[in-house]
Amino acid sequence: MAVQQSKKSKSKKGMRRSHHRVAAPAVLLCQCGSPTAPHAVCPACGNYRGRNYSAAPAE
Ligand SMILES: [Zn+2]
Repeated sequence: MAVQQSKKSKSKKGMRRSHHRVAAPAVLLCQCGSPTAPHAVCPACGNYRGRNYSAAPAE
């Protein structure tokens, strides 16, 4: 196993952790006005790309 030869400085720790932030989730606004995740059916009205998917598909 690789063993570090000296302790990483606070500066190097900060450089490493500069990539650790969490990105804000992408939110779109549906035509009905409610916030919606991209590539997902609107939870409020059931519309996605101009079609309504609120009803269960016929089988
Ligand atoms: Zn909607």
